[in-house]
Amino acid sequence: MKGTRVREQLRALVKLAEIDAKARGIDDRLKGLPVELEERRLGVKRLEDLVTRQRNALAEAERLLGTQELDVASRNDALSKAKSKGAKAKNGREAEAAERELEGVRRSIKDGETHRDALKDRIEKMRGGLGDPERALEEAKGELAVAESELEGKLSALREERASVVAGREVYAKLIHKDHTRIYDRIVKGKPPAVCEVNANGICSACRMAVAPQRFIQIQRGEILNCQSCQRFLYTKASLDE
Ligand SMILES: [Zn+2]
Repeated sequence: MKGTRVREQLRALVKLAEIDAKARGIDDRLKGLPVELEERRLGVKRLEDLVTRQRNALAEAERLLGTQELDVASRNDALSKAKSKGAKAKNGREAEAAERELEGVRRSIKDGETHRDALKDRIEKMRGGLGDPERALEEAKGELAVAESELEGKLSALREERASVVAGREVYAKLIHKDHTRIYDRIVKGKPPAVCEVNANGICSACRMAVAPQRFIQIQRGEILNCQSCQRFLYTKASLDE
C-alpha cells in the first residue's frame, strides 16, 4: 500500500467512484421496480373501485326501473277498472264522475311512463359510461399480470448486473490508502459521489465552488486533495495521465 504511487491511487479512486455510481444506479432500479408494481396495483384497485361503484349505481337504477314498471302496470289496471265503472254509470252524474276518475288515472299513467322512460334513458347512459372504465380495468389488469410475472426476472437480471459491476471493486479499493478510504466511505454514505472532477476554471463539479489556486495547481499535478467546501476528492482529466 505504501508503495502505491499517488497517481495510481488517484486513478483507483476515480475507478471506485465510477463503479459505485453504477452500482447505485442499479440499486435505485432495484428499489424502483417493486414501487412501480405497487403503483400498478393501486391503479388497478382504483379502477376496480370505480367500476364497482358504477355497476352498483346501474343495478340500483335497474331496480328502480322494475318498481316503476310495476307501478305503471298497476295504474293500467286502475284504468281498466275506471273504464268499466264508467260503462256501468247509471246517470249523467255518475258518468261525469267516472270520466274525471278516468282522466286522473290517464294522467298518472302518463307521469309514470315519463318517469319510467327517463329511468330507461339514464340506464342506457350508465351502461354506455361503463364501457371505458371496464376496458381500462381489463387493460390495467393485463399489464399488471405481465409486470408481476416479469418482476422476478428483471430483479435477478439487475442483481447479476450489479454483481458484475462491483466484481472488480476490490482490486481498486486495495490500492487506496486507508485514510482516503475512510473519507471516501463517509462521503458515499452522505452525499455521493465521493470523487469528482474540477473543470478548467478550477470549479468543483459537485458543489460548484472554486478551488483555491494553489490547491488547484496541486490537483492538476495529480496530488490527492479534497474540495475545501464539499470534501470530495478532486481530479482533473489531465491529472489522471502520466
Ligand atoms: Zn466541492
